[in-house]
Amino acid sequence: MEMKGGGSGRGARGFLTEEEKANRPKVTLELLRRIGGYLLPYWKQMLLVLAAIGFSAVLNLLPFILTGRIIDEGLIGRDLKALISLIGLSLAVMLGGNLIGVLESYLNSWIAQHITFDMRNSMFQHLQAMSHRFFTTNKQGDIITRMTSDIAGVQQVITGTLASILTNSITLVVALLAMYRKSWILATVGLIVVPLFVLPTKKVGKTRWTLTRESQALNDDINGILNETLSVSGQMLVKLFTKEDYEYRRYEKANRSMIDLNIRESMAGRWFRVAISTFASIGPMLIYLLGGVLIMRYDSSLTVGDITVLVALLGKMYFPINSLLNIQVDWIRSMALFTRIFEYFDLPVEIRNAPDAITPQRTDGGITLDNVSFAYDPEQPILKNVSFTLAAGKSIAIVGPSGAGKSTIINLIPRLYDVTGGRVLFDGIDVRSLDTTYLRSNVGVVTQDAYLFNSTIRDNLLYAKPDATEAELIEACQKAHIHDFISRQPDGYDAMVGNRGLKLSGGEKQRLSIARVLLKDPAVLIFDEATSSLDSISENLIQEAITPLIASRTSIIIAHRLSTVLAADEILVLANGEIVERGVHSQLVGAGGLYTELYETQFRRALTEAERAQPASL
Ligand code: ATP
Repeated sequence: MEMKGGGSGRGARGFLTEEEKANRPKVTLELLRRIGGYLLPYWKQMLLVLAAIGFSAVLNLLPFILTGRIIDEGLIGRDLKALISLIGLSLAVMLGGNLIGVLESYLNSWIAQHITFDMRNSMFQHLQAMSHRFFTTNKQGDIITRMTSDIAGVQQVITGTLASILTNSITLVVALLAMYRKSWILATVGLIVVPLFVLPTKKVGKTRWTLTRESQALNDDINGILNETLSVSGQMLVKLFTKEDYEYRRYEKANRSMIDLNIRESMAGRWFRVAISTFASIGPMLIYLLGGVLIMRYDSSLTVGDITVLVALLGKMYFPINSLLNIQVDWIRSMALFTRIFEYFDLPVEIRNAPDAITPQRTDGGITLDNVSFAYDPEQPILKNVSFTLAAGKSIAIVGPSGAGKSTIINLIPRLYDVTGGRVLFDGIDVRSLDTTYLRSNVGVVTQDAYLFNSTIRDNLLYAKPDATEAELIEACQKAHIHDFISRQPDGYDAMVGNRGLKLSGGEKQRLSIARVLLKDPAVLIFDEATSSLDSISENLIQEAITPLIASRTSIIIAHRLSTVLAADEILVLANGEIVERGVHSQLVGAGGLYTELYETQFRRALTEAERAQPASL
């Protein structure tokens, strides 16, 4: 699956980046129909906006047209009554136009907000249904960009692009009609200079755009430095390698380049702007000149007021013309935006509940893997013909070298992935036929790197069982051997765990996640023992927590320590995705196979102090 570039790094208004040109979206009827599908529920409000835009465009131009009559009838005609009433009318029209403008903005943002609200909700729901594979494959940043910037972009399309196309077109048509009604000759002359004004604007835009892109690239660099050095782990690395000065110099250098670039950017096109404003004043001059000649020499019906109106209307036309000439870019960007969003909506839901999913009445928690094979990537088989049966109440320890596929096996049980061959059975039923909510609520997993939300210990525990009583919390924490630690905290169960639980040690985090899974009270417990070295006290506490659990419920443990292996009813030795040995410790340890090797190299060396003190238990 390939995702088109994210929402960042947009070029300046008026130009498409190379990337945007390359990824120019295909505007199909289907795409337009889909966009229409989001707008359709709000068609009544949209009609109202259209009417409001039309009204306010006309009302905003009317005072300019009235200016002609103010001059001709009021000033030149010396009619005070007419002057006052025309001025009053102008003011009223202007006020009316502005009031309608307010209504228009309100309706516009109301519609945009409602459409993006619908879109965000359905996108979030869709993403929640995405498989584990989706989250391991895609960059987190991309996913978040789609949820935030891209959908915010839709809002911009509705309140900005769509509204500006409508407002500008209507303003232009009304202004043109009014000008041609006054004098077709003068209107045409005035319009001749429009290209003189528009073309240089495009050129300046291009220069500014190049600078903007440079400054965006530099900004990305600066953000990169900040992200790397001011993150928890990055800052730790900086401190431990005493790189503070080095990092400061790196930052200062990038920061300094930013100054130059920003100044150049703000000055870009200053001269051009001078030229443009000169061009812009040529049109009115031409109208004055030609209008004057017409009035003086040809006794035309043209009045001074008409000329003033024509000049004013011409001035009002530059902006809409310029905007409409550039609208193609906005249009392409908008379509690209919708295409990107729809791409996400179209991602298939890989793991979904079967239409006739089963929710068994009785749960024992027996697990069978029947000739299971699995590959993350079709070319690279990870598990090959793995079969084992774990009877309810029993426990299995999986051991094997790193990368053998141990974690992969446990991912298949709660259906984080589906097998590519064979079957995984839960109480004799294929997990693909079971209701996923039922399955997952009966399988508790404690991973090596337990994820904790940045909140209190209590909130993290309640995530598993929102209605748990205080006594239940304490009981679970006592079983997980973490209650004493929590009680020693000044805030007890209300202590904050920090970002991703970083205020806790690895062992504390794992014990807390054991307590969390105990609150969920699943029929099957899967435990991925931490490979990272914990201190022996922490390790013993985890051991003391986990050993009775293994004995009391169906469990699968990816084991790295001898005591865990010994506590299990059966040991599976996995290598290269295959079970190469199985049995109990006493059978395997002397067999001279991979287990013997693992025992010699890994388990024996990793014996905890407690185990060393009691060698007899081996
Ligand atoms: P360890 O003890 O180091 O955790 P493991 O036995 O649990 O190792 P797995 O995590 O199951 O091994 O990985 C088995 C193989 O699958 C490895 O070669 C790994 O690179 C690959 N792998 C793991 N997760 C993914 C993934 N999400 N996408 C693609 N390949 C993966």
